[in-house]
Amino acid sequence: MNILYASSEAHPLIKTGGLADVAGSLPVAIKKLGHDIRLLLPAYHEVLAKCSDLKEVAQLNLPTAQYPVKILQGKLPNSQVTLWLVDYPAAFNRPGNPYMTLQGEPWPDNPHRFTLLARAAVELSQNRAGLNWQADIVHCNDWQTALTPALLSLEPLRPATLFTIHNLAYQGIYKKETFDALALPTDLWHPQGVEFHKQLNMIKGGIAYADIITTVSPTYAREIQGSEYGNGLEGMLRHRSERLFGILNGVDYHEWNPEKDRYLVKRYSASRFEDKAENKRALQKESGLPIRDKTPLIGLIARLVDQKGIDLLLNALPHLIKQDVQLVILGSGEQHYEQQLLQWQQWHPEKISVTIGYDESLAHRIEGSSDMFLMPSRFEPCGLNQLYSLKYGTVPIVRRAGGLADTVIEASKQNIENRTATGIVFDHADTHAICWALDRAITLYHQPEGWQQLCKSGMAQVFDWKVCAEQYLALYKKAEGFRG
Ligand code: ADP
Repeated sequence: MNILYASSEAHPLIKTGGLADVAGSLPVAIKKLGHDIRLLLPAYHEVLAKCSDLKEVAQLNLPTAQYPVKILQGKLPNSQVTLWLVDYPAAFNRPGNPYMTLQGEPWPDNPHRFTLLARAAVELSQNRAGLNWQADIVHCNDWQTALTPALLSLEPLRPATLFTIHNLAYQGIYKKETFDALALPTDLWHPQGVEFHKQLNMIKGGIAYADIITTVSPTYAREIQGSEYGNGLEGMLRHRSERLFGILNGVDYHEWNPEKDRYLVKRYSASRFEDKAENKRALQKESGLPIRDKTPLIGLIARLVDQKGIDLLLNALPHLIKQDVQLVILGSGEQHYEQQLLQWQQWHPEKISVTIGYDESLAHRIEGSSDMFLMPSRFEPCGLNQLYSLKYGTVPIVRRAGGLADTVIEASKQNIENRTATGIVFDHADTHAICWALDRAITLYHQPEGWQQLCKSGMAQVFDWKVCAEQYLALYKKAEGFRG
């Protein structure tokens, strides 16, 4: 099949979260199965700086663009996947985050920027760029590329479309004037289209018009059809439920593997699990914490936003801090969370280490050094860190939500007895529940034999991209059937 995979980020070129990990891995796995998949990304400043082999292969005249949009071609690093970059410097060649200014505000021209990306996908997928390539499938991701299925729905000989929701909480909602300024076809403006309470809702372009919709876990696919997690789109998602599927993300085990991890001071495996202790000592030293082998070390890496349950952690800290534990936290996000966490570090520097920022190598060291990993998310479409934690024998403590519920097997008495347990799972998003989970993890930690079993059961879990790629390919075929 010929597949155009459109995304607003992809590891290792540009990353703000899980979407980048998926867009950097899934196309590679699909390519390895013998399909011609091309990855479409904006030519951000950071991406241009990381690619050395780019050549201009086409120019597109797109509505609202002041000058021709160039298409640059290269390869996604360490892969055979063809990379196409949408090069329009006024929109993309600027420093910083793909979505936000240095002050943390969304770029004011985001709708314009990502509509350019969506329109480039429409042209490239239909062989209208002079590249002698026609897509059978266009696979789009999140609101930034969601207008592509909507625009393609108006084309008579269009490719089939699949739209993946990585996070329904971000929808790309703008005023009606923005819709007009973008010169979008008025055929799309109605409540079953991209209109949402008289506003433009970009993610609806994917949900309303794609032949198939997916989310990144089966539980999240169910959850978003209800009012608690549907963000106002539950009705439309229920209406399209026969087209809605949940496929769990995989893990890039070249990147996230304690046996090969270049960021660890000591590599280890399930059969040399005792070597992990050396990493723990190194991280304690690096983080300014006392070096203590027998004190449970809890890791947390996340965007510091409401979704991730940071308030639950903050509520649990007065209880947690009374115990013999250490916490290593890495993240950035809402200022009030950053400040409160830093305040806790000041109060208890011997127990809490907080790093504000984005640090790939520290993220690896936290996974490879902690005894347990906390993810108290209020909702979690898939979640990747619990999957990395399993591989690193770092026991995940998670809330039973979305992909966390689908990937961590609770350490109930029965699951411990039959050796299937892989982590601690709690139900309610409240202080009592998170404290219960942390206490349970600490109690189990002090029973070394059972704890090792828990770590090793986790390490034996496999979330293989090849399996995901096969599932997506089956859905691409189905999407072609739906297109008719
Ligand atoms: P989300 O996409 O909602 O942020 P995921 O768990 O799906 O959450 O993916 C988050 C990815 O981003 C993981 O690979 C995680 O390690 C990484 N990450 C998040 N915050 C940081 C940070 N501050 N530094 C380094 N990596 C981070």
